[in-house]
Amino acid sequence: MALPRRQLVILQQGPFCNIDCKYCYLPNRANNKTMAQETLEKVYHEVFNSNYLRDPITFLWHAGEPLAAGHAFFRTLLP
Ligand code: SF4
Repeated sequence: MALPRRQLVILQQGPFCNIDCKYCYLPNRANNKTMAQETLEKVYHEVFNSNYLRDPITFLWHAGEPLAAGHAFFRTLLP
């Protein structure tokens, strides 16, 4: 039986959001902690060694306002 294949990995850098949509369901939006580098390294390890993912893989940053983490944060996440 063929393994299921996925091409999308959804990540949350943290809950922080500087917007306040009335319909928002996300708690802790004032919390500005961001994902630790070690956590992302574990994610990369699992993703790139998974038999369930195939090229191309899309990493989608979601929840909170991802861009509020700032340019420097995302530069540190590049492999
Ligand atoms: S997390 Fe999304 S839905 Fe919630 S306040 Fe921010 S932008 Fe709006």
